[in-house]
Amino acid sequence: MPHVITQSCCGDGSCVYACPVNCIHPSPDEPGFGTAEMLHIDPDACVDCGACVTACPVGAIVADTRLAAAQLPFVDINAAYYPPRPAGAKVPPTTKLAPVLPAPRPERGGLTVAVVGSGPAGMYAADELLTQARVRVNVFDALPTPYGLVRAGVAPDHPRTKAITGLFDRMSRRDGFRFYLNVTVGQHISHDELLEHHHAVLYTVGAAHERRLDVEGMHLPGTGSATELVGWINGDPRFAGLPVDLNHPTAVVIGNGNVALDVARILTTDPEQLAATDISDAALAALRTSAVREVVVAARRGPAESAFTLPELIGLTTGSHVVLDEADRVLVRADLLAAQDPVTRAKLEVLAALPGADAGADAEPGRRRIRLAYRLTPTRVLGADRAEGVQFRRTGGEETVRLDAGLVLTSIGYRGRPVAGLPFDDAAGVVPNVGGRVVDPVTGRPVAGAYVAGWIKRGPTGFIGTNKSCAMQTVAALVGDFNDGRLVDPVRRAALLDKLIRARQPDLVDAAGWRAIDDAERSQGAGEGRPRVKFTTVADLVAAAQSRRSPRRGGGHRGGGHRGGGHMDRIASWISS
Ligand code: NAP
Repeated sequence: MPHVITQSCCGDGSCVYACPVNCIHPSPDEPGFGTAEMLHIDPDACVDCGACVTACPVGAIVADTRLAAAQLPFVDINAAYYPPRPAGAKVPPTTKLAPVLPAPRPERGGLTVAVVGSGPAGMYAADELLTQARVRVNVFDALPTPYGLVRAGVAPDHPRTKAITGLFDRMSRRDGFRFYLNVTVGQHISHDELLEHHHAVLYTVGAAHERRLDVEGMHLPGTGSATELVGWINGDPRFAGLPVDLNHPTAVVIGNGNVALDVARILTTDPEQLAATDISDAALAALRTSAVREVVVAARRGPAESAFTLPELIGLTTGSHVVLDEADRVLVRADLLAAQDPVTRAKLEVLAALPGADAGADAEPGRRRIRLAYRLTPTRVLGADRAEGVQFRRTGGEETVRLDAGLVLTSIGYRGRPVAGLPFDDAAGVVPNVGGRVVDPVTGRPVAGAYVAGWIKRGPTGFIGTNKSCAMQTVAALVGDFNDGRLVDPVRRAALLDKLIRARQPDLVDAAGWRAIDDAERSQGAGEGRPRVKFTTVADLVAAAQSRRSPRRGGGHRGGGHRGGGHMDRIASWISS
């Protein structure tokens, strides 16, 4: 029986290299690898050895006899990637395996690199560097916890995706790897100081800020961004105090990417299901008393241009109550007639099977639901003292559409911020680079010793695993420059770095500190049947890092959420009804 790749596919390609018959595509050397919404197992070529299951860091691969009901649609999605074949046809095993790119090999020992940002791009970059002997990598993060958006951005009801932290934990135990957490580059140590201690600085700082929607009324209480809400749901200390008001029956999410689906799903899921996840206690308490009954996900374009991916749409529609208005069902049917691309067709078929917004309402009164809505271009948020709704223009027409809502969230993508000391492309929200080498946009010359990977390099697109090939490209450039003598040897001894940072940041969290946090959170969770219970203030996290005894939950450290100013500004735009 063949194996099947399911919703949580991270796309990092580990399964491709584990497969002895090269039946998983697109492989990293093939066109479409970086843009495909997931990888696919060829059911006629799979020899059912299960090697891919072991290699997959997110538990996405399942034998077809063991699929849960909600995973069954993935049988056809995997098969549809391959050409149609006669029933029962078998593809002969191949000896032509996916080519493994050789890891770049420093030609002399002693390469030392600072990686700034411990999300997926930073971890994959560190791992790639540490495949070679006598390399040292110091990974910095402003938060006391590592792994970036895997901890703070992936929805809590996606535990398989979050399981990639197991892989990152293993990477962090490699010889030569060090964590400097709770350390802000640009505040506790400058770029130039990092270069005195390392051959190169590789920035993997992501694009953790929301893109702002520039329409009237976005300052009103009751407005906010999905990015902030996701941070609050995940117990990110920067958003722990967000005053989210769920006292109104309708919420509107503007934009229909995967983040919009995450937010809509969490707002409409039975809180008792979420109680078994690592959702923040504050978010769970708010959701338990939430009055939200409908979340409208409003896209400015049509169904065929939906930004969400097929795996996430399937996950949503198999687990949540999702409906379409009759006018949108008409749009779906029209798009389906015209669609050529198989992934778009598959999405439209899922949409076409959704119930109408009026169907079944009487059978399940009050059931929370999500309505996908199309061709709505936002023109203003309505309301005098707080958000009362959104006014849209029908895209491509003049009709005005009003949706009443007490909560208006924008989910129109992330945006990178300038990195101190590096050039910045303000239009694209990235650091200008060629293959990961930072370049000065005026002279076109590389900025010595500066590199980027992940969203700050290529913009906020793709999945967790996309960062692997992205990081590998940057590391190849960096090691090439080291071998060619283009990187300056550090002028200061390695031991001095620790001393310098500890003097400036006594609350530095190292690998042992992170493990203490991790253990404390997990053991709190075990008592409640949850994967972990998160500490949500910097003070509690630091206390947990510094002591094996876990601090009292919710105890003592109010206001520990750090770097107050910007946070308070953001909070001000939220409701306190
Ligand atoms: P996204 O996929 O880029 O979607 C952005 C949405 O905002 C689109 O619907 C876009 O519409 C809309 N938009 C942009 N500007 C707008 C404007 N001025 N007015 C109205 N709508 C506007 O962004 P995202 O959802 O933040 O996701 C970011 C990346 O993370 C994506 O690659 C996503 O797949 C990934 N991600 C993956 C997962 C997962 O795999 N589970 C979960 C979360 C995020 P147009 O298409 O018309 O521009």
